[in-house]
This record gives sequence, structure tokens and C-alpha cells, in this order.
Amino acid sequence: MLFLFGTGKSTLKNQYPLQGCSCPSCHQNNTMVAGTIARYFHFFFIPVFPTSRDNVAVCNHCKGSFSYSQFTEEMKQSFDTQQTTHPNSRPIWHGCGCFIILIGIVCFIGLLIVGWFKSKDEPEKPKDKREAYLKADMKKVTENPTMATDSTSFYIKEYMDDILENELNKKDIKYFSKVNGDKILIILDIDDIKKIKSSERYYIINFVQAALEEHGGYENLQQYIGVDGMWNMVLAVSPHYTDVDGKFAEESVLFPFYDAPKNYSEPVEITVKSNKTEQKEKN
Ligand SMILES: [Zn+2]
Repeated sequence: MLFLFGTGKSTLKNQYPLQGCSCPSCHQNNTMVAGTIARYFHFFFIPVFPTSRDNVAVCNHCKGSFSYSQFTEEMKQSFDTQQTTHPNSRPIWHGCGCFIILIGIVCFIGLLIVGWFKSKDEPEKPKDKREAYLKADMKKVTENPTMATDSTSFYIKEYMDDILENELNKKDIKYFSKVNGDKILIILDIDDIKKIKSSERYYIINFVQAALEEHGGYENLQQYIGVDGMWNMVLAVSPHYTDVDGKFAEESVLFPFYDAPKNYSEPVEITVKSNKTEQKEKN
């Protein structure tokens, strides 16, 4: 069986001849050399961190080896003096696993952070085609709708500008409207909606409905109204469902606007191969 972790050892560089000492075993003089064996914990044979040190003496004559506890007093004295003047230090690689693990952890955390930012930047893939249509339309809002480009938004803006006091910055309210068969979609984008208490935000919907009523001509259209705040949609109203708690409205309330009108069939999609390749080349 292969041991993937455990302890390893190495003899440290400095060795100390024990001058004037006699071997405890063969009693020869000046035959001993002392040194230090340092141990370390390894994982997959990479030293991770240092553990114990053992001081030993070896006799060159009888080959006997002695641990520090077996040293005679004179051996201890000679060893201690020499070690104090030329101390042995561990090689740095005894702890290199710590650095490797530390670098690994830093890299892992770094990758997590990078991954998190990347996933934030990447737009979520819309699951529903209608979600993509709505997102696209929500980007088309403008603070200056004109009679020529978007007359409905133009009426609503006039009405809102008259009725609103200073609770909202009128110039920062953006509008968009669109008709699909017998349905009309109206989107308002109000970044400073937070100035209005969430419980009172549904008034905005009432204002939009009142504007349409006052102007006239919208009676036969099903109304889909969404109010987009700084971060998310805060109000969403459709003929089938209203989400007006003023904090977080489901955008999906507006999705049915994009469904094909009644008595309408999708045009058959005709694909011509040569055109496709042409387009690809252009791109
Ligand atoms: Zn000996």
C-alpha cells in the first residue's frame, strides 16, 4: 500500500565533531559526529509543514548511534556549544507545501470571485421568447416621446407632467408604448420611484389609465402597463392579473401582450440557403 501522507526526514547541513568526547559504546576518543535530523509532514510526497527535530551522534569507529538523551554530559556540552555558535536551520522546502496550499487557496478564491463577476455580467438567457421581447421594449423608453414617434406616450407624458407635483423628477420619467392587435403595452421607467412609498406607487397606474381614458380611443384595447424602477419592475398590470404591491412585480404579467392576436396566424418562415450564407459572409 502506498502512503500518500506521513512524515519524512532529512539531515540538516551543519555537523559537529564532538572533540574530546569518548564513545559511550566503544569508548574511543574523538570518533563521534553529531547532527540534527529534522522531520516534516508530507502529503503526496510534498513537505507540508515541519514537525520534530532529533539530535543524534554517530560513532565512526563502532557505527553506534545515540540520541540526545543518551549523550554523556561532555557530549551534550560540546554539542550545545557548537550548535549555539553555528545553529542549524531547516531548509525552506520543509514548509513549501504550506505555500503551495496557500497559493492554491488564493487561486481558488480568485477564480470564484472572477466567476461570480462573469456570471453577473452575462445576461441571463431568457427562457421565454416573450421575456426577450419585453426586455428589448423596456430599453426603448424615452423621456421625450413625440406625436410622430409615440403619440400614446406623448399624451401620457403631458397628463403626468400636469398632474405630478414635485414628488418625482418629471424629466427623468421615460415612456414607451406599442400596440399588438387589440392590445396596448405601456412602459414607464421611473428611476426615482423610491421617493414614493411602495404602498402608494399604484397611483402611477391609475394616472396612466386616467390619461388614456381622458384622451379617448383606447376603450377597445386591452391594457398592459408596467412601471420599471431603478432595479426591477415595481408595478405590472394586465387584463388578467395585477401585481401592484409596489416593490417587486412579476414581468411575466406583461408577457401575454406579445402573444399573437386572435385570428392571426404566424407567417410561415421561409429559409433560403443561399441568403443565409450571404448573410454569414456579411457578418
Ligand atoms: Zn564507538
